[in-house]
Amino acid sequence: MASSQSVSAMGRGNADLRRCVLCSHGGSCGMWRRGTCGFAHSLGELLPPREVERSYPGVWKDGVDRWYGQHVAKQQRDRIVGYINNAKSWEVPVWAQAFRWFYLDLDIDILPELGWDFGISQDVDALLRCRRSDRRPFDWAIREDGMRLWELLRRRRDALEARAAAFTLPSRITGR
Ligand SMILES: [Zn+2]
Repeated sequence: MASSQSVSAMGRGNADLRRCVLCSHGGSCGMWRRGTCGFAHSLGELLPPREVERSYPGVWKDGVDRWYGQHVAKQQRDRIVGYINNAKSWEVPVWAQAFRWFYLDLDIDILPELGWDFGISQDVDALLRCRRSDRRPFDWAIREDGMRLWELLRRRRDALEARAAAFTLPSRITGR
């Protein structure tokens, strides 16, 4: 199974894959306290795989918990949601807010201050600059109900624009 392979690769301490996956032991991880755990123990600690010299295409299937809009397997999704639910609000990064918005099907126009695409396109742009291969290493997320990430993001942009327009007072009142 790809999952156990990538997870065991991290367990063996491949430095390129350190902190790509959230630790199943959370904050009570004994190895973490001894400094020997290769997993991440908070959302803010997560990193993408280091792919400067070589690529790890298999890892992107379910071994990268930092969300760039990639499709996320069910078990992996539960792991990330568990960490989000246990985090204080100020410990939840923007990408995790986007993740929750998409997979938990929250209101289309929540948290407008985080941007219509939650910075996802910029994050992916930055990711692609730092890779040996500049090809996007993953498929975009699709929910069980068939909703695709960029389709929903475009709806969000439209909803935010409509909301902004609704707040604009008609010129027959404010104009002269
Ligand atoms: Zn750990």
